[in-house]
Amino acid sequence: MKIFIVEDESALLDKLKKGLEQEKYIVEGETDGEKALDRLFEVPFDLIILDIMLPGVDGLTILKHIREAEIKTPVILLTARNSVSDKIAGLDCGADDYLAKPFSFEELMARIRAQLRRESGQKDSSLQYKSLRIDTLKREAFINGTLLDLTMREFSILEFMLYNKNRVIERFSIAEHVWGDDFDTFSMSNFVDVHIKNIRKKIAPLTEDTIIETVRGIGYAIKD
Ligand code: CA
Repeated sequence: MKIFIVEDESALLDKLKKGLEQEKYIVEGETDGEKALDRLFEVPFDLIILDIMLPGVDGLTILKHIREAEIKTPVILLTARNSVSDKIAGLDCGADDYLAKPFSFEELMARIRAQLRRESGQKDSSLQYKSLRIDTLKREAFINGTLLDLTMREFSILEFMLYNKNRVIERFSIAEHVWGDDFDTFSMSNFVDVHIKNIRKKIAPLTEDTIIETVRGIGYAIKD
């Protein structure tokens, strides 16, 4: 899997590149919009992470050009926080997803995996962990084949954690994923804990397996 990152903040580019390489992706980075556009016409990639604000040619223009040229590679746009017009313009130009800055690496990973799964047309949309199975297309979760009665947000937390298996996920990252810009740290600080508690309550009668572990002082993890 080859990923192209176009981001002019070199510190952020380095961080993303290193992180994705650790996840065993082949990564190429570019800070300049015009060079990025040239590169995209030279080499095929499996996924493009594209910042909107770039010197020279901006991200939306790059996106427009490659879509006009029938390059259908999935694109995740990086937008400024709360810029609704950027989001709409991005989706209009043919972006597959967008992520508002600042974002956590876990959130980016979840989005990348979702795009790559979609792209590979994977027939089997399930994720399995011990007795838990999640169908990411039908948005259903099962324990030993029994359907769990989860709310949309509970499902979303479980799916996010499974996408990030073997990582310790901070409460903030979970909140960011599930509530996005709507999350208010002050009034909603215990929301994640309450949701995790409810998920455990629904799982407990069906299995002895520990699905979600608490990592004291940090957050939660699903570990092999
Ligand atoms: Ca930028």
